[in-house]
Amino acid sequence: MKKIGVLAMQGAFVEHIADLRRLGVEAVPLRLSAEFKGLNALIIPGGESTTIGKLMKDYSLVDELRRLIAKGLPVMGTCAGMILLAKQVRGLKLHTLEVMDIEVRRNAFGRQVDSFETVLDIPVLGQPSFPAVFIRAPRIESVGDGVEVLSNLPDGTAVAVRQGNLLATSFHPELTDDLRFHDYFLSIINGNPEVKADDD
Ligand code: GLN
Repeated sequence: MKKIGVLAMQGAFVEHIADLRRLGVEAVPLRLSAEFKGLNALIIPGGESTTIGKLMKDYSLVDELRRLIAKGLPVMGTCAGMILLAKQVRGLKLHTLEVMDIEVRRNAFGRQVDSFETVLDIPVLGQPSFPAVFIRAPRIESVGDGVEVLSNLPDGTAVAVRQGNLLATSFHPELTDDLRFHDYFLSIINGNPEVKADDD
């Protein structure tokens, strides 16, 4: 059975674990690099990218995660999780994983009161459109050549992107009952059965 870790430094990790368990996969909270053994994939949740990024450094997870991602570990980052994956981040002083070829701007949709819900057309998920919750979300400002845009807001802003085994969203798919986005991540993982965190 696939084992998926959810980085549990801070933020909405409980909701991701619940969604994965509803989909019938083994989901575990992760805090230490020793717990990466046997992992098939990782989710980095939303929360505060400054806090999560600092704790990742303090727990010495950054280099190990970069190594696993370079080997092909599938990773999904939502909201703050997307910030932590992005190669370029406006509004964050900290260096983080910097593995996904996107540029994002923190809090670019406004303050807490400007948080919003909408429905998105995400062709890889089919119909109906997908409910999306944006909470002090980062905005994707630009994407590199190898990055596929999976969904846009009506003004053209990309809000869900994929680059190989990396998946990132500005919104929070774990905060609604719709499991299709997590299911899509599972399909990426299942397309890469050979990738395990303890392979050398
Ligand atoms: N505003 C947060 C940050 O910049 C992200 C918010 C979220 O993950 N919902 O880290």
